[in-house]
Amino acid sequence: MSKFWNELVQKLDPYVPGEQPKDKKYVKLNTNENPYPPSPKVVKAIKQAVNEQLRLYPDPNADELRKTAAEHFQLDPEQIFVGNGSDEVLAFSFMSFFSAENPVAFADITYSFYKVYANLCSLSPKIIPLNEDFSLPVKAFCEPNGGVVIPNPNAPTGRGVSLSEVKEILEANKDHVVIIDEAYIDFGGESVIPFINDYPNLLVIRTLSKYSSLAGIRVGYALGQKELIDGLNRVKNSFNSYTIDRLALAGAKAAIDDDAYYQEMAKKIVTTREQTIERLQNIGFTVVPSQSNFIFASHTEVDAEVIFHELRDHGVLVRYFNQPRISNHLRITIGTDEEMDKLIDALKLILKK
Ligand SMILES: *Cc1c(COP(=O)(O)O)cnc(C)c1O
Repeated sequence: MSKFWNELVQKLDPYVPGEQPKDKKYVKLNTNENPYPPSPKVVKAIKQAVNEQLRLYPDPNADELRKTAAEHFQLDPEQIFVGNGSDEVLAFSFMSFFSAENPVAFADITYSFYKVYANLCSLSPKIIPLNEDFSLPVKAFCEPNGGVVIPNPNAPTGRGVSLSEVKEILEANKDHVVIIDEAYIDFGGESVIPFINDYPNLLVIRTLSKYSSLAGIRVGYALGQKELIDGLNRVKNSFNSYTIDRLALAGAKAAIDDDAYYQEMAKKIVTTREQTIERLQNIGFTVVPSQSNFIFASHTEVDAEVIFHELRDHGVLVRYFNQPRISNHLRITIGTDEEMDKLIDALKLILKK
């Protein structure tokens, strides 16, 4: 606490990012980064953007990137908003569309940044408990809400929601914005982007951090009808007009243009995921069905927290959440096959003790 902090800052409960340790080299399965490098075309585009033009501000509207994304998703460029990582896009969305009078709803077990944004915007969110098996209680999300935020697939569980379920929620919340956070959609989920022209209340949020292997350049975007995008632009231009730098703009455009490369990588990750699930089940883990590049698992006999610390000693980092309902689970990012071999070898040693 500091006497210099205002009341809002005193009450904040900030997000704690997964660690990026520097003490030694770990098998890093804790922040859902892509284990494969970005497309070589992306690296080339970023290198080409390192030139004297850097003295000039970047395009505040990200016109070229939005045009590329619009073609890719068969939308209009005016239906796309680009931000500095989807975290920023989410924060702007909370500021634009939700209010304290009518609480926004999200699940008890979900991306923990939602609660942080709600807190930052002084909203008292409506927290809806997931079902016992971590599936989404669709009916509860159809009750009167001041908006809805759902990651599909969910984090940190990896479970997806079906298109018909999202449709039900969109129909029931016609007067409020429904955000579908598709950070992990390309690892096996079904995107609701085709619903955008039918639902003025739908905002889809995407990131280049996971699927496009570009967590390091910070680009995310929102897709929705123009009215919603205009709202986001009002907030952005009241905050910082130049949120995406020239290198990020160049890299992001190249990434969207080289989707074929990323589809291959995602296929590899899905194959590794399915193999890893089977191997974990063979050594006594229960694994939640996953449509993501991570899995959520608990062991039938050994505490998740114990396994988490011991894995760290073996040089393998996974994510542990000391939170109600999930304190006996580990979230494990899918790495390369070699990395998963190291994980399984370490787990076998730990479980033998
Ligand atoms: C990783 C993640 C994000 C944030 O992605 P950035 O674009 O890197 O800010 C958003 N939502 C969910 C559910 C995530 O897991």
